[in-house]
Amino acid sequence: MRVIAHCPKCDAGLPVSAAEAPETIKCGGCGHVLSLTFSEAIRNDARVDVCPVCQGGDFYIRKDFDPKVGLTVVIVGALISAVFYWFGEDLIAYSILGGAALIDLFVYGRLGDVTVCYRCHSEFRGKYERTAKHFDLHTADVLEQEYERKIGRR
Ligand SMILES: [Zn+2]
Ligand SMILES: [Zn+2]
Repeated sequence: MRVIAHCPKCDAGLPVSAAEAPETIKCGGCGHVLSLTFSEAIRNDARVDVCPVCQGGDFYIRKDFDPKVGLTVVIVGALISAVFYWFGEDLIAYSILGGAALIDLFVYGRLGDVTVCYRCHSEFRGKYERTAKHFDLHTADVLEQEYERKIGRR
């Protein structure tokens, strides 16, 4: 399982391999040292049960989507179709635009789910069994505040 831990000080994303399970990692952004405690299930890529960063047990699932990739496809498609449109080839222009949207849908549909920690926003990617529910705003509000108080941000 690959874990992206978020630095409590500066929010930088720090990639960690759960199989190696290091006890600490140093933030490349601000030099803050995070202590990590990996559970057996996370180490074995079986389940996400306890967050190695904040020791919380509340997670949600979201699509592993990089909005930048999707946007690039649409922008490139729009640029190419604008050229055809300029030369009066409307039909080709619209087909390209439609094609770009289709590619976007295809990319989106193929994405896996990523588990995210409500408190510290650590992300967990791997073949493990997804047990978390979808995002709930109320839970996020409560748990994020609790965590931020704990690390002294509020
Ligand atoms: Zn940092
Ligand atoms: Zn966490």
